[in-house]
Amino acid sequence: MAVARTRSVALIGVTGRIVEVEADVGNGLAGIHLIGLPDTALSEARERVRSAMVNSRFPWPDARITVSLFPASLPKRGSQFDLAIAVAILGAAGVVPPDRVSTPFFLGELGLDGRLRPVRGILPSVLGAAKTCEVTVVVPAANAAEAALVPDAKVIPVADLRQLVGWLRDGEEPPALAESPDDAAIPTTELPSVDLADVVGQPIGRRALEVCAAGGHNLWMLGPPGTGKTMLAERLPTLLPDLELDHALEVTAIHSVAGVLPPSSPMISRPPYVSPHHTATAAALVGGGSTVVRPGAVSLAHRGTLFLDEAPEFPRHVLDSLRQPLESGQVTVARAAGTITFPARFLLVLAANPCPCSQPATPGDACQCTPALRRRYLAKLSGPLLDRVDVKVTVARSSKAELMADRTFVESSKTVAERVLNARQRAAKRLDGTPWRTNAEISSAALHADYRPCDAAMKPLSSCLESGTLSARGLDRVVRVAWTLADLADRDQPGEEETSRALAFWLGVGA
Ligand SMILES: [Zn+2]
Repeated sequence: MAVARTRSVALIGVTGRIVEVEADVGNGLAGIHLIGLPDTALSEARERVRSAMVNSRFPWPDARITVSLFPASLPKRGSQFDLAIAVAILGAAGVVPPDRVSTPFFLGELGLDGRLRPVRGILPSVLGAAKTCEVTVVVPAANAAEAALVPDAKVIPVADLRQLVGWLRDGEEPPALAESPDDAAIPTTELPSVDLADVVGQPIGRRALEVCAAGGHNLWMLGPPGTGKTMLAERLPTLLPDLELDHALEVTAIHSVAGVLPPSSPMISRPPYVSPHHTATAAALVGGGSTVVRPGAVSLAHRGTLFLDEAPEFPRHVLDSLRQPLESGQVTVARAAGTITFPARFLLVLAANPCPCSQPATPGDACQCTPALRRRYLAKLSGPLLDRVDVKVTVARSSKAELMADRTFVESSKTVAERVLNARQRAAKRLDGTPWRTNAEISSAALHADYRPCDAAMKPLSSCLESGTLSARGLDRVVRVAWTLADLADRDQPGEEETSRALAFWLGVGA
């Protein structure tokens, strides 16, 4: 009868923290005691571990078993500690050599029959384990492809407890992964089958989309139903470049914690697109949950697009909850068990009808809404939220003549995406050595110190500042968009033309 130690990982939001699991099998009344802040799922681990061991025909020690998880101060949630608890008990009971279990990390939920079940959040857990050095991680076979995304991890996929014990006793490795981690690196996902060329007419809307994609700017589209606002928004992802490796890992980690990764090709290499309905709750939007806190839409849209169609229909407190992530690029969810922070840096696209009656903009407009009603309808979005939107456009229904004339010039997503990539590369080169990669992210202080356009370019803005049509915050946003327009035009810095057009985008008067 002895003590055995092993390791696992606790997830705090999307950060993995190493947890030591220790089992002591000793004299005393037979039973199992778990210490170290266990939540309900963890307490249930006792029953799962016992059944899994007995049903795998391993002896259950007829003794007092104490299992301790520490640091005790770390909140530990979910079922991914099952495997480490079982392994520590097997080590302490002498079923496997205790020295073989002390260094690897064990992650996974046990079924009552001893099979290993996949768990959420494997990628961030393995990243947490491999933070300092190369590690060996034992994971359920169904999680193996996801775990193998981490370069410094040797992944041992196991199907059940018996297979694991075989490996620990004889060093007999379970069948290797079908593909090596190198092959798994960033598969290129097929672009969605929509294309910007599907949108005929709407030259201003298309141009705004290109500018927002290039600089990472937030977009607001106002127009009657049936004018193609949703079509435009859905095509924004086709203009965005693939995620770079570090961003791809961030995005994949969040989706892993949310439990929405495809198990076969888990790496997300394209910017996500999330479009919650206006009946979504604040918890669905920013994250929440009673026992385990899950990331919300703003985090699932991290490094991608969050599209709110019919934005004024969202309850005001739900819209207000967007302010923190828009400002800081992350969202903090407060729950009884503590606060959890998730990344949430997304490109926000808002669309709205001009009035609540949603009459299509047909000739002989059936809309009877009064100007006061229209104002009230849109007022929900004004102020703090629209202050954080850099590009505002009005989309109107195109005339037949416009549609016919436009059809020949209309550009495909591929053509526009090339210009976007070129502009992004210009910006990335200029921002090299800073924490930012797009113009939209540049801090106010840096904007004033290092990226102030020349005096001639600032002229149209100064007069607006004096007349009060432009606030100080608005000025910063206009300057960021002006830089993006310069990047798109292959210019080294914005001139008067770029600042004037950025100002028009900010004021919502087309550009
Ligand atoms: Zn109306």
